[in-house]
Amino acid sequence: MVQARRDKDHFALLLADLDNFKTVNDTLGHAAGDDLLVEVAKRLKASVREVDTVARIGGDEFALILTRIQGPEDAAKVAAHVVEALARSYRVQGLDITGGASLGVTFWPGDGDSADALLKNADVAMYRAKERGRNNYQFFTSDMADGVVDAMRIESGLRQAIEAGELAMYYQPQVSSDGRAVSAEALMRWHSRELGWVPPSRFIPIAERTGLIASLGDFALWQACRQCLAWRERLAPDFRIAVNLSAAQFKHEGLVERVATVLHEFNLPGSALELEITESVIMEDVARGQSVLAGLKQLGCKLAIDDFGTGYSSLAYLKRFSVDVLKIDKSFIDGLDEASDDVSVAEAIVSLARSLGLDVVAEGVETAAQLEVLRRIVGDYGYLAQGYFYSPPVPAPEFEQRFPAFRQLRLVGEHA
Ligand SMILES: [Mg+2]
Repeated sequence: MVQARRDKDHFALLLADLDNFKTVNDTLGHAAGDDLLVEVAKRLKASVREVDTVARIGGDEFALILTRIQGPEDAAKVAAHVVEALARSYRVQGLDITGGASLGVTFWPGDGDSADALLKNADVAMYRAKERGRNNYQFFTSDMADGVVDAMRIESGLRQAIEAGELAMYYQPQVSSDGRAVSAEALMRWHSRELGWVPPSRFIPIAERTGLIASLGDFALWQACRQCLAWRERLAPDFRIAVNLSAAQFKHEGLVERVATVLHEFNLPGSALELEITESVIMEDVARGQSVLAGLKQLGCKLAIDDFGTGYSSLAYLKRFSVDVLKIDKSFIDGLDEASDDVSVAEAIVSLARSLGLDVVAEGVETAAQLEVLRRIVGDYGYLAQGYFYSPPVPAPEFEQRFPAFRQLRLVGEHA
């Protein structure tokens, strides 16, 4: 900094953190981890100029100082180059290992007046890069600091949220084309004593990144089954609740057994549960996906593909996975009441579902006009619709209270 100040120059500080170092260390041993670090160091040195500085500052964290650069564009070029270099696979102890690193970039002057401040802000940017799905770089921006503090407070709050009784399941009705509401999707809501309402779009990614999602998912499953039993007694004998499965739950070895245990605990048949999984989670490991789905199917559970149309599905696999339901993503329902491409996409999904014999659930139905178009597209094949048109997700007592009205709401919609 002293030198740059004297020369009226700029420099950039990059922090790189390897995405999979811990896994390598834990599964292949420390010698393998060391080999990986050596290879990373070589690639880093090859990615920068002689005059630049490459340092390992701890565990799997490296710092790079790029001196005499003109502006952030130059730093961005190097950062992109480094990300690419570290993403190539590594040969460690005879095995090919997937690479990847998350980079945070700070620029002097501007992003900090002391070495500490620069490093701290680079760390904040790196944290954001990890949040954005790893294997990328982020420049530090001043509003980032608030966001990260938030993320840290959310993480610590979330750790105690279950025991503190701050989490609750809300239920959104799914109304069939013949006007029956005999199922609901269970959605998690968190009211933190300290932070107030924290939307799922904020806390779910953090729960996924920190591994907390496993206990959250288990909580959701247990609560949904408990509720389903009560509603089978009070509302409809064949009531079913749809529960979202996270990637972490899906990958967990004991999933099928866990679902079986919870069903057994409440003496419920598998058909009381519908499990929603996204395309990308299944497609990540097709062979495993297939066997887990088959296991859940054997319990009698219904299987739904959530947000269908937004991920990448192999249509060939759709048939082999024993799924029962395609949930048309809200983004395609949105445009149904205008003359938009959404109509063609919805038509295509419905005809795919039809030919594979799968049920259709439309997510995010908000207007009578959307429902009308949906009805026209689906025809007598039938569908389930959920969305604000019927009801937002509501707490269980409210759901129960409004249950008789869900059908009426539909009739109102028809006349609208
Ligand atoms: Mg869902």
